[in-house]
Amino acid sequence: MTQRLVILGGGESGVGTALLGRQKGFEVFVSDKGSIKDKYKEVLINNEIEWEDEKHTESEIFNADLVMKSPGIPEKAPLVKMIREKGIQIVSEIEFASRYTSATIVGITGSNGKTTTASLTHHILKQELQVGLAGNIGDSFAKQILEHDYENYVLEISSFQLDDILDFKPHIAVLTNVTPDHLDRYNYQFENYIASKFRIIMNQTPEDYFIYDADDEVIQEWLENNPVQSRLLPFSLKKTFENGAFIENENIKVIIDNNQFIMPTKDLALEGKHNIKNAMAASTVAHLLKIRKQTIRESLENFHGVEHRLEQVLKINKVNYINDSKATNVNATYYALESMDAPTVWIVGGEDKGNNYQELFPFVNEKVKAVICLGIDNEKLIENFAPMVDVIVETQFMSEAVKIAYKIAEPGDNVLLSPACASFDLFQNYEDRGRQFKEAVRNL
Ligand code: ADP
Repeated sequence: MTQRLVILGGGESGVGTALLGRQKGFEVFVSDKGSIKDKYKEVLINNEIEWEDEKHTESEIFNADLVMKSPGIPEKAPLVKMIREKGIQIVSEIEFASRYTSATIVGITGSNGKTTTASLTHHILKQELQVGLAGNIGDSFAKQILEHDYENYVLEISSFQLDDILDFKPHIAVLTNVTPDHLDRYNYQFENYIASKFRIIMNQTPEDYFIYDADDEVIQEWLENNPVQSRLLPFSLKKTFENGAFIENENIKVIIDNNQFIMPTKDLALEGKHNIKNAMAASTVAHLLKIRKQTIRESLENFHGVEHRLEQVLKINKVNYINDSKATNVNATYYALESMDAPTVWIVGGEDKGNNYQELFPFVNEKVKAVICLGIDNEKLIENFAPMVDVIVETQFMSEAVKIAYKIAEPGDNVLLSPACASFDLFQNYEDRGRQFKEAVRNL
């Protein structure tokens, strides 16, 4: 009998799943409580897939054999609870789509660095392999399986996608770090969020690999207290390993079963200590997949990063303008400030997610000459940082923030947008915030 697949959420992963599901013989229904974007509606209509938006019709949903829940929909939504009560299986797009491919999967997760590490890994692998980049980036995994069926995939995977996997098993899993984020979706329990991230290895066997940041105390502690099947390949800026990636004489060294890859850190195109870690993770994956060492080296030398992540915008009057709009939490901003090598005018603020700014204090004391608070409510920032800088100002307009920065900055300084906060109080999203920053800089 035909199986009914109900898809909650008509965005990129929902519509991709609908297309793949239909091709695999499911009767498909897409339901979105909000409005579905026109470009996705068009795809659904052209492919004769049934859908609704602005509502959930329960009679069309509770008769499902399988439900795919988009990552944006929280577990506590009443509809999700009811579906669970009825015993209908709920999966994420990654789970659903992976059932229809035998490709080698590299799954990359973490609180920060997912997009950078996934893009960098893909950039290296694509020089020699047939490889797709999916997950939170670009076209959905489901759609790519339908259209390309690559032999390898690099997937950027959020904790929300991991929450609804059952059998999904990446051959190579990467965990970049774990710091508090999205706690509103995890009952405000950090442990729940940590557990969610580690689901990336829950189905791995001794033939599979787990690459992780061994300097991250949260990760280390979890590994000490939980059994793991996977073969471990740590990376670190401080320790060395028999198998793993580490620093030796200012070189990155990756060793797997006595086979070495070496490259000077100064040749990396990406700057900052966090990016050395990302490069270690990516080169460990590439080394495992037998990419030539020369190719790995060249790819790391010419990969200049992803938009809105410590992105160099312009130099004006010898002042360097840097867009790190994607820094939506304190940890990301920590690495941005750490990598500043000149006095810095720092634009910060937005929607605070319960931030604790303390770990930034040493960098602010040492490197920040002025703080420009860009948010609706800047009180907490002022309380935290006014005691350590000479200049602290507030604004609610990007163009003004940039003009103030322009006035304060002297030749040789940096102007850094690294908000440590979500963008939704003043902007549509972090991309909008980053683009407005770049436009304001270009208008100077
Ligand atoms: P994600 O996809 O996990 O959000 P991104 O690669 O988009 O990660 O980077 C988000 C922010 O975190 C950027 O400000 C970036 O500079 C910073 N970042 C990148 N890699 C790391 C890392 N390994 N550790 C901490 N912060 C990082």
